[in-house]
Amino acid sequence: MAWADKYRTLKVRTNADTPADAKKARELGAEGIGLCRTEHMFFEEDRIAAFREMICSDTVEEREAALEKILPYQQGDFEKLYEALEGCPVTIRFLDPPLHEFVPTEEADIEKLAEAQGKSVETIKGIIQGLHEFNPMMGHRGLRLAVTYPEIAKMQTKAVIRAAINVKKAHPEWDIVPEIMIPLSCDAKELKYVKDIVVATADAEIEAAGSDMKYEVGTMIEIPRAALTAADIAKEAEFFCFGTNDLTQMTFGFSRDDAGKFLDAYYDAKIFENDPFAKLDQTGVGQLMEMAVANGKKTRPELHCGICGEHGGDPSSVEFCHKIGLDYVSCSPFRVPIARLAAAQAAIAEKNAEKEAKDATKEEIEKRIADAKETLAKLQDAAADAGDDIKDFVAKGLKSLKAGFEEAKKTFGE
Ligand code: PEP
Ligand code: MG
Repeated sequence: MAWADKYRTLKVRTNADTPADAKKARELGAEGIGLCRTEHMFFEEDRIAAFREMICSDTVEEREAALEKILPYQQGDFEKLYEALEGCPVTIRFLDPPLHEFVPTEEADIEKLAEAQGKSVETIKGIIQGLHEFNPMMGHRGLRLAVTYPEIAKMQTKAVIRAAINVKKAHPEWDIVPEIMIPLSCDAKELKYVKDIVVATADAEIEAAGSDMKYEVGTMIEIPRAALTAADIAKEAEFFCFGTNDLTQMTFGFSRDDAGKFLDAYYDAKIFENDPFAKLDQTGVGQLMEMAVANGKKTRPELHCGICGEHGGDPSSVEFCHKIGLDYVSCSPFRVPIARLAAAQAAIAEKNAEKEAKDATKEEIEKRIADAKETLAKLQDAAADAGDDIKDFVAKGLKSLKAGFEEAKKTFGE
């Protein structure tokens, strides 16, 4: 692993939502968190009730009051993550799944929720029914939730910034720059709308704490339109992270949850060689990524780019990420060593290919020089045999030829 780390240029981060996962990943060599899926923190017993209260709220004020209850938990979770990462970068992704994933489905649980909310069972069932979508993965999720319920993004921003400030106070030597990641954007204006909420909230928190903390707001690129409009999106994003799980599903137009039903037939018929959710489709999805990196960097040269889909731990996908100039891959903790190794192999393969190309060019140049020398010698012989008038003419020609030859040699040498 030390050999691998010596050669690789791609950083390796991890996808971790808990301090335990983060610690394990650090032991395995992760250099930061590339994706913390915050929704997992809402599912825990002590928070789900408050989150459901938020979903069942009738007014913004009620929603804010419910979120206020979750804020300390979320802040505490983030503090533990920052502690576990000891100053390494941590990217925190804001709420992504559709809200229906958080409501109960069992009759008894629905009744309990109704009682807790002081609402009738019918009202609660109506709310749950209202969350139903035909295509939830293409529905009311990701930053669309923040557009309709900005108070969720505000609460999460407060939790991130307060946690970062607290941990920085305890460890002034750590370089803590929170990376807030907004999921599922597909349009620069949409991203700006949410980013403005995040920035206003974060700046107010930082000022209130009398801190000078810096932070970054970036986005996941996981909808093909986001990749296509990356030059615009980069005006609003300080970093891109490719969510290739969604990007694959949306580019192929089949669901990551259902495609298993028919993909076997595709392998049998030799239409596909691999599961595109496991091994990155470099031709299609990869093309979108490459284009997004190039166009994003044209707008913002310092834009940093990573990947946090499942492909971030797959060796051939890691090699591709190296080739298109990503700064890091992020994968589950136990895939970190494989990613480190693959990143090193990609860097070495690239160096070898460069050397081979250089050697081939050098060989070609040497051959041309030898040919030119031979021609020159033949011309000199011919000039020696010629009459005086021709000799003079040839000598002038030779002089300028030699000068040109020396000039060319010099250029080749350089
Ligand atoms: C992704 O889409 O690649 C991603 C990392 O996000 P999630 O899997 O949570 O949708
Ligand atoms: Mg996603």
